[in-house]
Amino acid sequence: MRPQIEQHVIVVGAGPVGLVTANLLADEGVRVTLVETCAELPRDLRASTFHPPTLDMLEPFGVVGSMIEQGLICPTWQFRDRNEGVIATFELARLSPDTKHPYRLQCEQWRLGELLYARLANNLLVTVRLGTTAVAVRHSADGVELDVTLPDGSGETIQGMFLIGADGIGSVVRHAIGAAFDGITIPELFLTMSTTYDFRETMPDLSNISYLSDPREWYVLIRTARVWRALFPVDASLDDKDVTSPARGERLLQGAVPRSQTYEVTHRTAYRVHERVASTYVKGRMVIAGDAAHVNNPLGGMGLNGGIHDAFNLCGKLIEVVRGAPLDTLERYSRQRRKVALDVVQQTTLRNRSILNTREPGAREAYYDELRGIVADPEKHRGYVMRTSMIQSLRDVDKVK
Ligand SMILES: Cc1cc2nc3c(=O)[nH]c(=O)nc-3n(C[C@H](O)[C@H](O)[C@H](O)COP(=O)(O)OP(=O)(O)OC[C@H]3O[C@@H](n4cnc5c(N)ncnc54)[C@H](O)[C@@H]3O)c2cc1C
Repeated sequence: MRPQIEQHVIVVGAGPVGLVTANLLADEGVRVTLVETCAELPRDLRASTFHPPTLDMLEPFGVVGSMIEQGLICPTWQFRDRNEGVIATFELARLSPDTKHPYRLQCEQWRLGELLYARLANNLLVTVRLGTTAVAVRHSADGVELDVTLPDGSGETIQGMFLIGADGIGSVVRHAIGAAFDGITIPELFLTMSTTYDFRETMPDLSNISYLSDPREWYVLIRTARVWRALFPVDASLDDKDVTSPARGERLLQGAVPRSQTYEVTHRTAYRVHERVASTYVKGRMVIAGDAAHVNNPLGGMGLNGGIHDAFNLCGKLIEVVRGAPLDTLERYSRQRRKVALDVVQQTTLRNRSILNTREPGAREAYYDELRGIVADPEKHRGYVMRTSMIQSLRDVDKVK
């Protein structure tokens, strides 16, 4: 009998993608070691949008009800002009034949993380190693080896049959498989602030998710169950303290929606945004997923969702391999999900940025006319929400062999 190590998968990173991966594999009876450098699951505010097919996928974990309870259902989203008002409002009810969740759910990503983490707690197949940092990865004679640094600073080598790098943008695993990470860095920083002010007092027709276009200074307003989040582009040459200073935040918010009172801001983060896709997601028994494999701007909420879609695609194929399918089955995962990252996620998010920041008046009007035309035509409207909710990319991926 071969040792149990044959079924052992190491997952690096307990972000949402690593946690989905660990849950999927353990549910199929695969032994998993999940390695996370942080001593506790991070609670910082990052993505908060869950698209309909992602909620459909997460449903079997039994976590969606709780996400809905903690979150906010958003049946529409819109493009606005900062001065003119609504350009186009997209209705997700048009997806009712295609999903059990015809809406975007706003729920902070750490809430999903905690639900998925709790689900692993009593599973004897899963070992979670918090405070443990992956430092080197290599193929061994019959599997993979991961060198880690433990909380006390000592080292250890973990052995497994497969290794999945869900270790975010600075992925050690991506470096180990020798993948290039070509693309661009967006010239401005993205500053997000949470405020208790309800922007619908000033804009009663505002959707819970609204992208406000402007040649001088575009911004985004996203409502969660507790606060509104506002996102502004900020000059990247400023130092970090200046970018997130209360004075700058107040200036930006007052510039967007002037009020006699000061804005109560409960949280501020600024982060650098990239558009990059790894040249391959697989090398032998080592695979990457989520931000380790692709990063993009958040305009459209596709990064986290795309990462979760990676995890489902990958785990489906990995389970086939564990049960005897050829190892190169994993290459198809790479081909399929890279294509989505390049052709759908990157294209859509870059286009959204162009709609928001294009300066030339003729080009802006052309974008607006196109969006108005899509909303007015039921077939185009449905096609648009199929693509922007990422349902279409999940269907099209089957055509990639
Ligand atoms: C500051 C910030 C704000 C963001 N805001 C938004 C937003 O507003 N909207 C949006 O759509 N998207 C946003 N994103 C992007 C979104 O959060 C990511 O797409 C999503 O987190 C990807 O999930 P992931 O699991 O692939 O990676 P991550 O969430 O990055 O998780 C990777 C995990 O791996 C761990 N790790 C890393 N290296 C190692 C190692 N060597 N050993 C062990 N563990 C390791 C990390 O600690 C982390 O827990 C933001 C990202 C950042 C960084």
